[in-house]
Amino acid sequence: MGSHLTSDKKWQVLRFADANCKNCYKCVRACPVKAISILDDKAEINDARCVFCGKCFLACPQDAGIHSTDKDKVRELLDSDSKVYVSLAATYSMYFGNYNLRNMAYALKQMGFFHVEETAVGTGRVLQEYEKIINSRKYSNLITSHCPGSNYLIQKYYPKLLHSLFPVVTPLEAHALMMRKAYGDDIKIVGIGPCLAYLRLIHSEDCSGGIDAYITYEELKGLMDEEGVTISAEHEDEDTYAVSAYRNRYTDETTGVFRAMDIDIKKKYMLWTADGVTKLGDVMQGLGRDISGHIVEALTCTNGCLGAPTLRMEKLDKFDARTRWLEGIKENINHLDKRNPSEEVEVELRKAYRRMEFPAPEPTEEDIEMLLELIDKRSKKDMLDCSGCGYPSCRDKAIAVYQGMADPYMCIPHSRDIAEAQSNLMFDNVPTGCLVLDGDLVIRDSNKMAEQLLDRSGEELQGTAASDFLPQDFLESSKLKESAVFKKALKCPAITCTVNATFFKARRDVFMVLLEDVTERAELIEKAARMRLETIDITKDVVEKQMRVAQEIASLLGETTAETKLAFNRLRDNLLESESEWK
Ligand code: SF4
Ligand code: SF4
Ligand code: SF4
Repeated sequence: MGSHLTSDKKWQVLRFADANCKNCYKCVRACPVKAISILDDKAEINDARCVFCGKCFLACPQDAGIHSTDKDKVRELLDSDSKVYVSLAATYSMYFGNYNLRNMAYALKQMGFFHVEETAVGTGRVLQEYEKIINSRKYSNLITSHCPGSNYLIQKYYPKLLHSLFPVVTPLEAHALMMRKAYGDDIKIVGIGPCLAYLRLIHSEDCSGGIDAYITYEELKGLMDEEGVTISAEHEDEDTYAVSAYRNRYTDETTGVFRAMDIDIKKKYMLWTADGVTKLGDVMQGLGRDISGHIVEALTCTNGCLGAPTLRMEKLDKFDARTRWLEGIKENINHLDKRNPSEEVEVELRKAYRRMEFPAPEPTEEDIEMLLELIDKRSKKDMLDCSGCGYPSCRDKAIAVYQGMADPYMCIPHSRDIAEAQSNLMFDNVPTGCLVLDGDLVIRDSNKMAEQLLDRSGEELQGTAASDFLPQDFLESSKLKESAVFKKALKCPAITCTVNATFFKARRDVFMVLLEDVTERAELIEKAARMRLETIDITKDVVEKQMRVAQEIASLLGETTAETKLAFNRLRDNLLESESEWK
């Protein structure tokens, strides 16, 4: 996966490189909310519809996914006089290995960062807010808002459920607010983690805490390499302190929120954990009913932040990576001797999440029918619902076309039918005979011209050995050759005509023979040859007669006619040679 910087004015966090896209629609199929448009053979992510789960990047066989990057911004900040603070996600050990927070901080400070804390500092305060809200008993159902991707899903696709979303900022925003209050408004803050949804959030006007940049672990590694900085288990930064309540870090994993909270919520609510957009969608559908008493831990990625897209792209050994994450948590417990000043401050963490619906015009039944007819889907049996276009059904695809997300002709079976019809038309109408043979050199298909040349119907030819019409040795020897074999003027007893034949391998165990009718040409040439031979014979007679006369005169004069005879024989041989060349 590559990365690029786009203008802050129109922040497009995810996109596909046009040059790499091969129009396979795998990304559309993988996208749980169908936020990818394919128009003019280009796959494009629609920012207004996207929930930044990264599934499309993982699905793309061409590795065409590109996310925007704040790397340049981080370089600029580190080169400036500003004090740059880091909010580091607890999953760092999954990417970097068995290093504790102080090893990480040591390396980060070598790069020029001023201070390092865990994002889990913010998580702790977010959880306290959740507890207050639960205890208030004002909400009939509740959905956690600690995952920015899930928040986007609810804001864009389930806005009617916004009243159930905890009205609290995300952990990174909370941490940024706490650091600003504790260390001054002039500090710069860089979030480091595996989440593409955070990358989007920090570049939106909805983001609290003024986070200046967000980079992934892969990008941090790139910056470390540029600076020649390595992380070492032998070097620890003594001024770095782990979060006071280590259980806050558990929220990176499914059920973590429930495990980390101080109150017994089971008595108050029925607990749900929904990880992954599809599962989340199912639970949101349920919450839309007239029910109460449910609390949902909502996570965009399967298995929470441990399954974040940029971590999955690294193809880590899942067992080892989770073990490192768990060990990292234990390791950091050892230096809980001092609290971060940011943990002492009071900040306002409430946030009103706004509706973020996007324009999606609803087609009428007539519109849908008309769009389906374009790809010859007129009856139920034509609706294959094969998902080849990336949509679960032909109808869903027609709706996407209406909404400007898909090309009307983006249908694999329809394109195949058209291609087949065109090639059949060509096959049938070319002025060359075509035979399709199987591996045993038996005719499996033929076109009109071949049927005319061989004087058999298509049905008669099918299943017949090609050697019934063409010389066996030509067929057998050509089959063994990799390249096409051309044979001039083939005549076989079963064929009344003369053909030039070209034999070639179409694919494994499928061969083609092209037959060009050269009967007329062959007859003309034979006729010309016959005429030349007759001319020669007549000439020969005349010359021999003259030679006899000349010999008689010569014998009287004592001379020879041998040279004249030699010249005549050469002329005759040349004529005969040109005859045999054509054959
Ligand atoms: S998955 Fe999407 S972006 Fe990747 S090659 Fe296929 S159509 Fe293009
Ligand atoms: S990131 Fe997720 S929601 Fe966005 S386009 Fe890709 S698969 Fe769809
Ligand atoms: S038949 Fe065509 S339109 Fe229908 S689901 Fe398959 S590819 Fe999509």
